[in-house]
Amino acid sequence: MSNIIIKSLREIELMRQAGRITAAARTLAREMVAPGVTTAQIDREVRRFIEKSGAIPTFLGYGGFPASVCLSINDEVIHGIPGPRVIHEGDIVSVDVGATWKGYVGDCAGTYVAGTCSETAKNLIAVTRQSFFEGIKFARAGNRVGDISHAVQEYAEKNGCSVVREYVGHGVGSEMHEAPEVPNYGRAGRGPTLVKGMTIAVEPMVNAGTWEVKVLPDGWTVKTADGSLSAHYENTILITDGEPEILTWAEDL
Ligand code: MG
Repeated sequence: MSNIIIKSLREIELMRQAGRITAAARTLAREMVAPGVTTAQIDREVRRFIEKSGAIPTFLGYGGFPASVCLSINDEVIHGIPGPRVIHEGDIVSVDVGATWKGYVGDCAGTYVAGTCSETAKNLIAVTRQSFFEGIKFARAGNRVGDISHAVQEYAEKNGCSVVREYVGHGVGSEMHEAPEVPNYGRAGRGPTLVKGMTIAVEPMVNAGTWEVKVLPDGWTVKTADGSLSAHYENTILITDGEPEILTWAEDL
């Protein structure tokens, strides 16, 4: 990957606007997750919402991805393709969505329950979400990327879960994937130094079983290798001198 891009004040404002649209798209998807709904229905509504907002669904056509949202169910980790699959009672659905506003990208994700789910699933979702917040306690100017990575991993593993290694968070800006990579595992004090004005997507992908994953023959869908449940939580954040600003913030987070 190329060099880390520090955003100007103008770019940060556009990132904020992109983030707001993206977060609202995630909220819409979250509200639609229910037994009997197909993943294609959610994709259609989210696409409509993003386009009505004057933005572009970032994922649509990205690397050939055929939809505007990734919807990954139960043991699917990320990159699930929307289609005729019906969501069932007790399923956990990971929603990952991106929107591009005036050339700048917001990227966020979350895992939501259809109806009521098992205690294992509930715990996994809570641990995944909290691991993000543990990680971003270290997301401030002068710290290292590894400080975030380490905090995410430590929290997830302390709570009996594992973190996916093969897919990582990333810088985000005019491109969805910019430098640096932001792994969800690693040692504190390592990796690039965080600088005020950097915008990064921190996105723990956490499994209830082991961390290994496999890609399905569709070339996209990533599943846990052992068939255990997986959850995802992501926000685009801005590095400042103090606490990071969550650009994809929404009330329901
Ligand atoms: Mg991302």
